[in-house]
Amino acid sequence: MPRNPFQFLEVSRADPEKRPVGLRLRDFGEIYGQYNAEQAAAQAGRCLDCGNPYCEWKCPVHNYIPNWLKLVEEGRLFEAAELSHRTNTLPEICGRICPQDRLCEGDCTLNDGLGAVSIGAVEKYISDEALKQGWRPDMSDVVPTGRRVAIVGAGPAGLGCADILARNGVEAEVYDRYPRIGGLLSYGIPPFKLDKSIVETRREIMEAMGVRFHLSKEVGRDVTIDELLDGHDAVFLGMGAYKALTGDFPGMDAEGVVPALAYLIGNANALLGTEAPGGMAVDVDGERVVVLGGGDTAMDCNRTALRQGARSVTCVYRRDEDNMPGSRREVKNARDEGVVFRYNRQPVAIESDSGRVTGVRVVETRLGDPDERGRRRPEEVPGTDEVIPADRVIIAFGFAVEPCDWYERHTVAHYQDGRTLVSTSGDYPFQTSNPRIFAGGDMVRGADLVVTAVYEGRQAGESIVRLLAAEQRPGVAVGDA
Ligand code: FAD
Ligand code: SF4
Repeated sequence: MPRNPFQFLEVSRADPEKRPVGLRLRDFGEIYGQYNAEQAAAQAGRCLDCGNPYCEWKCPVHNYIPNWLKLVEEGRLFEAAELSHRTNTLPEICGRICPQDRLCEGDCTLNDGLGAVSIGAVEKYISDEALKQGWRPDMSDVVPTGRRVAIVGAGPAGLGCADILARNGVEAEVYDRYPRIGGLLSYGIPPFKLDKSIVETRREIMEAMGVRFHLSKEVGRDVTIDELLDGHDAVFLGMGAYKALTGDFPGMDAEGVVPALAYLIGNANALLGTEAPGGMAVDVDGERVVVLGGGDTAMDCNRTALRQGARSVTCVYRRDEDNMPGSRREVKNARDEGVVFRYNRQPVAIESDSGRVTGVRVVETRLGDPDERGRRRPEEVPGTDEVIPADRVIIAFGFAVEPCDWYERHTVAHYQDGRTLVSTSGDYPFQTSNPRIFAGGDMVRGADLVVTAVYEGRQAGESIVRLLAAEQRPGVAVGDA
């Protein structure tokens, strides 16, 4: 059938159905449903196929979005899956948890009042459905090179790197201190945003591609970096950002104050039956919970606390809603589920009685001049403090990066704030100052997104492939490798 160029006018944007609030608060299951083939085709067919697809430019991995939308419209699911995997290692995961409103869908031409194409939901549909129907990445033309690379970290960056290496015939050996792959996909992001079976399926796929995982193995404790360097042709570091930022105000040591990631890892361990390090077993059933922070981590804590049966959940943020760093969609989901937001409130102290938290003292703020990143600074309004009562306070102020203690010995340079320094141009992007060591993801850019970590891991993988090929064929220009 010929394409209907006016489908975007005749068919409105329709997202997959969401479970009603009353039902979804009863468990940790994903809240979004799935398109069927007809719905996916109708939504994909809304794409205008712009000559210059802004969505593709804005997507950090530069997915061939209009091309796979067209394949979905035509019912060519396996071809869509093949194309979608050409640029993205984790399309079913990005389709679920990318903040599409400020990435691909934010730049869709139809976002100007007509409703952006539901790119994320279609991307998720392609992989979920193709994998269910038996599609697997085609590795038939891969020629083994006999080269081996160690990857530290099985998070999105490490998986992105492993994907590229495996497709180029390089053995990828991935080490992670956690018992499951995925990094924050398994132990940070809660299952109502990303069901853990999705990550497990990805593990099976990658193992079938030849990637080897060494789990519950911490580099620096169970295996040394020297062993990895000795036994492999190169090493990729994708170790994330795990140093929790604290507010540095009085009362932080009161019983009942919990760091966000420890809380989420503890909850993930309880649900998965694992013992990943860094978790705290905390159940807030019946408690008044106050979450401090306004990013994705804060939203995940808010909504986890509601599912654990918290009596009330209040989210305190020092700027206004427009300046919140968290995804709009997740803020809306949190509000719909019953989280109370207190904007323009700066926490100044944790109140306690006999060492046990009783509340958070906050001061009202107004927004002043922009800071160096262009975000308006919150300024305290004198004489406006109040105490928000709490039995539990969860601190979600973000994360910083800690450089490894062996960096100096192996000449790996880092920025003053701990982020690992890598080259961004030249022959080998994402190479550190040690030519055999590459790095990417949160440990390079600071705490960011799944899709940017995947992109950097893939770029590093391509650099490693070029480096190994150039070494194997001395005299051949690197660009020809
Ligand atoms: P990680 O995912 O952190 O993976 C690093 C891995 O390295 C971990 O598995 C860790 O165990 C391992 N490791 C570290 N040190 C060692 C060692 N010495 N030996 C062995 N293994 C080691 N992004 C989104 O796009 N959408 C979201 O909705 C979203 N929600 C988030 C919610 C929360 C609560 C958090 C904390 C983050 C969220 N993010 C989200 C951000 C996203 O998860 C990260 O940007 C992304 O996971 C970074 O990938 P990475 O591979 O760099 O690091
Ligand atoms: Fe959009 Fe993320 Fe998919 Fe790119 S990877 S198309 S930004 S949902």
